[in-house]
Amino acid sequence: MDELQITSNRKKARKPTTSKPTDIRAFELTVPHLPAGPTSSGQPLRNPLPLALSFEVIQYLDLENSIELQTHYYLILPEESDLDPELNPLFLKLDAEDAPPPTGFEVGLKEGKHEFWFDTRTHQDAAVLLEQLVEKKILEKVDPPQHHTPAGYDGLGEGYPLVRVAIQEKEMAKRCGYDGIWEQRTDQERLAVCGGCKLAWPIRFCDEDCQVMSWKKGQPTPHRKTCKKVKAIEKAPIDEVTTKA
Ligand SMILES: [Zn+2]
Ligand SMILES: [Zn+2]
Repeated sequence: MDELQITSNRKKARKPTTSKPTDIRAFELTVPHLPAGPTSSGQPLRNPLPLALSFEVIQYLDLENSIELQTHYYLILPEESDLDPELNPLFLKLDAEDAPPPTGFEVGLKEGKHEFWFDTRTHQDAAVLLEQLVEKKILEKVDPPQHHTPAGYDGLGEGYPLVRVAIQEKEMAKRCGYDGIWEQRTDQERLAVCGGCKLAWPIRFCDEDCQVMSWKKGQPTPHRKTCKKVKAIEKAPIDEVTTKA
């Protein structure tokens, strides 16, 4: 049995607060179909709307028992809110997980920045926001690789812009690998990374309870079965790792 490395000393009971962690970058976007003006209790979503860029890492074993990693990027409301982000139309997933990346495009970390690809034809609502995200330097466009083809799609149209994250790792919110809580919606502390896989694509947790539960019963694969395999991945794409004292 692999050893569980507890990294968080946080208590389970946490008081929600409306203050933001200072290192998570919040920015305002103008979202289609939202009214402008000050927020009210009847209409909590108003333009310009403060949002944060977030990502999550999912580790799991495939049918051959090989480690698989997925990263997903989202736009989420940066402050504590009564709105359920999963049900909210602004819980926008930015990446295109259902299709392979374009030919010659490697997903990963380059020059300290996450690189992923984004297909505006399959995310039409998000496409309107993409331009604003580039303008605000949250995302940046990258040159397409040679022989750029929209692999996995019908090959029609002009392809799509390739973008990468232009902000630092620490400026993005993270998601608990057990219960799915986004860190900036809970309190000012950052989620702790697993001490076992922290140099690779680490899984993060609210507290010790979430870490223990993920180790034993995490979905889609209990973390005890993925931690060592993730640790063995040579490339360390995360350039900033937060651990609790
Ligand atoms: Zn949690
Ligand atoms: Zn781990």
